[in-house]
Amino acid sequence: MAGLSEAVRKAMQADAERVKERQATNFTKSWNLTGKTAIVEPGGSVTVRFGPRWTISITIDGKLVMNPEYRSGEELIFVKALEHWWDADGGKTQHAWCPKSLNPNAECPVCMSAAIDMKSEDEGERKRGKRVAAKEVFIFNAAVGNPRKLADGKADIRIMSVPGTIYTRVYDIMTGGSDETFARGNVGDHKEGYDLKFTRPRKDTQGDRWSVDCAPNPSPLYSDAQKTAFAGWPGMLVNLEEMLIKETKSGNDLFKMYYGRDPEPDEIGTASAESAPEATEPEAAVETNPTPDMIDEFMTPASTAGPKAPTPPKASAPAATGARPRTGGRR
Ligand SMILES: [Zn+2]
Repeated sequence: MAGLSEAVRKAMQADAERVKERQATNFTKSWNLTGKTAIVEPGGSVTVRFGPRWTISITIDGKLVMNPEYRSGEELIFVKALEHWWDADGGKTQHAWCPKSLNPNAECPVCMSAAIDMKSEDEGERKRGKRVAAKEVFIFNAAVGNPRKLADGKADIRIMSVPGTIYTRVYDIMTGGSDETFARGNVGDHKEGYDLKFTRPRKDTQGDRWSVDCAPNPSPLYSDAQKTAFAGWPGMLVNLEEMLIKETKSGNDLFKMYYGRDPEPDEIGTASAESAPEATEPEAAVETNPTPDMIDEFMTPASTAGPKAPTPPKASAPAATGARPRTGGRR
């Protein structure tokens, strides 16, 4: 074996770690409502169409088919998560799911840092603490625009994290809020869901809030004109529970990402513990590629839907809300 100098190894290490980090954290494409890649400018509006729950399809013998057990509106079309945003050296914005998203008892170094900063005498530190503190978000599958935005002529379905203010408005639309007769039900239904219009406040300051309007009439996920582009769309829905499990770092790994070094034994309760177990890899389900020529049986009435599929295999992934001791669970 030809050797590798310490200098070369060091030179390669930083990039390798950065790329690995990026692969681990920015794996899933998203529609962003704020920040540099926001899909709507301050004061502007965007049409958002949530997707149905990802369990609408299953893969049998490599073919994507309608899940016979799927019932619209019987299960949530989103997952709830906690996320952290902070500015790394050089001003690059960093994002990570908080380990408490999966286990409320998990230890999180970023939450700890935020809590300390927020109690500081220094205004700058208090501001930083508020910035990095965990934010509750609700993650949906979504298409945007009307007609829908495409990517290379294909449907572009991505995850979208919405804050609590938007979530409560969506809740009111779905349930009717105080008047049930106005309830729109499952707005993410692929046949009779509703387009939503998100209007961004002029300034991202407190008090100015997003508004959410609902289309007056139900509509399918896409129009006839975009039928070709949407062929195989159920396979594009992200399994949000699996995504969260896969992308959420352990307390130790998050510490490394946040501080750029390993924790000392007393800095996080689990520093000396063995690494957190890897999430189980239900790869086949996640990586399913929609077949481009797939007949779109999902839009046809149930009676003429595709072949009756055998009982689908139960998802092997643990529920995202289940107690998953990512950091070793030590108290
Ligand atoms: Zn946290």
